[in-house]
Amino acid sequence: MKLRASDTGRPMVIAGAGQGGLQAAESLREEGWEGGVILFGEERLPPYYRPPLSKDALIEPLDLSTIVLRGPEALASKGIDFRPNTRVMAIDRAAREVVLANGTRQPYEGLVIATGGINRRLPVPGGTHPGVVSIRGVDDAFKFTASLEEADSVVVVGAGFVGLEVAACCAVNNKDVTVIEREARVLARAVSPAISETYERLHRERGVAIELNAAVAEVLIADDKPCGVRLTDGREIRANLVVAGIGLIPCDELAVAAGLACNHGVIVDRCARTADTDIVAIGDCSATAHEPGMPLHRLESVQNALEQAKAGAAALMGKEKPFLLAPWFWSDQYDVKLQIVGSSAGYDQMLTRGDIANYRFSNFYFKNGAFIGCDSLNKGQDHMVARKILDRGLTLTPEQVADEKLNLNSIVKAAAAVAA
Ligand SMILES: Cc1cc2nc3c(=O)[nH]c(=O)nc-3n(C[C@H](O)[C@H](O)[C@H](O)COP(=O)(O)OP(=O)(O)OC[C@H]3O[C@@H](n4cnc5c(N)ncnc54)[C@H](O)[C@@H]3O)c2cc1C
Repeated sequence: MKLRASDTGRPMVIAGAGQGGLQAAESLREEGWEGGVILFGEERLPPYYRPPLSKDALIEPLDLSTIVLRGPEALASKGIDFRPNTRVMAIDRAAREVVLANGTRQPYEGLVIATGGINRRLPVPGGTHPGVVSIRGVDDAFKFTASLEEADSVVVVGAGFVGLEVAACCAVNNKDVTVIEREARVLARAVSPAISETYERLHRERGVAIELNAAVAEVLIADDKPCGVRLTDGREIRANLVVAGIGLIPCDELAVAAGLACNHGVIVDRCARTADTDIVAIGDCSATAHEPGMPLHRLESVQNALEQAKAGAAALMGKEKPFLLAPWFWSDQYDVKLQIVGSSAGYDQMLTRGDIANYRFSNFYFKNGAFIGCDSLNKGQDHMVARKILDRGLTLTPEQVADEKLNLNSIVKAAAAVAA
């Protein structure tokens, strides 16, 4: 791979000014790029942090200054030319230019596609009514809190992380909440059955009704407002507010039109590279093939956006810095913080440390004797130790986890002492 010069006369261009786009801009500077950096964002705000939008921001009034990651002055001080309200419409790979909504063409030296995703709409009659709320950006959160004030009952469609976080906030706001989930358990795609069971119990204890194996056939509309849902079994659940939390569609349309390989996300390697050496794709809009021919992974998380941005910025400079860390994620619901590292997918042994009844425990997952992941509820220390073990390739055995007297951090310390 050839190193790129630190300034070539053309700027680096980033399409999408979110979590990943900002990190890519800053990482380009850290990697030694001295030329122009242009950060195009179609939203009105500078890059901001989305996780609170389904959590605290639905309980306390949202103060934008607490979620904006860098204001315009901070961006300018790093030589990042931030252009809000500007949508990139097309990529002309032959000319190495992007085309903006007003027809202007902007040449690029390297291009970062960091366009995130949009929320999936409910594919049923009434599902696309503008009164059906789904949360992706700040304006959605403002709209939601305004609607919530006037509502006393809420139906949340989808028991994924965002759906359950919204349900928790509605319950904390003393609303009558029903969650509808097509699968047989909550959080089915993301966690083990044991954690699903725990979260179902947590919500039911707080008065949330959960309908599993239940699909929505129609969003009911009266006086031009959603007023509930009809399920495929004919039951009707009435509510003043209908929320859809049924997942994300990656915004890969720029890449598709430019002839880059996409499959529900722009296909990239572990350095965020596309097949075009001048273009990387990062964050929610990308899908990674860990090895050529291996199944694609699409992670929608802050960590993934940040780490891919670092890898992608380095790749544009001609450096190989793959994102190899174990994936981690968190979710806050009521007073319980879930932290996930690695994966429980395909585990054949699970060991628990802590107090399940009081939502303070960790599940450690093993496959063929190898440690593959850990889910912690209100056990931040376990999460941090598990992360170190996975990131450093250390060995953790089921016997060590089963020995509750053993401080797992001693394994990390012992390995560090050997390495020193
Ligand atoms: C409500 C909510 C709660 C979340 N909670 C958590 C959590 O608890 N933990 C966690 O790890 N992750 C969480 N996430 C996920 C996390 O926020 C995302 O994974 C992360 O923001 C992805 O960063 P990104 O840069 O890929 O996309 P984004 O941050 O979505 O940024 C993409 C930006 O690109 C812009 N854009 C799109 N197309 C164009 C274009 N053509 N031209 C110009 N601009 C364009 C978009 O408007 C957007 O501003 C949450 C997300 C949401 C929505």
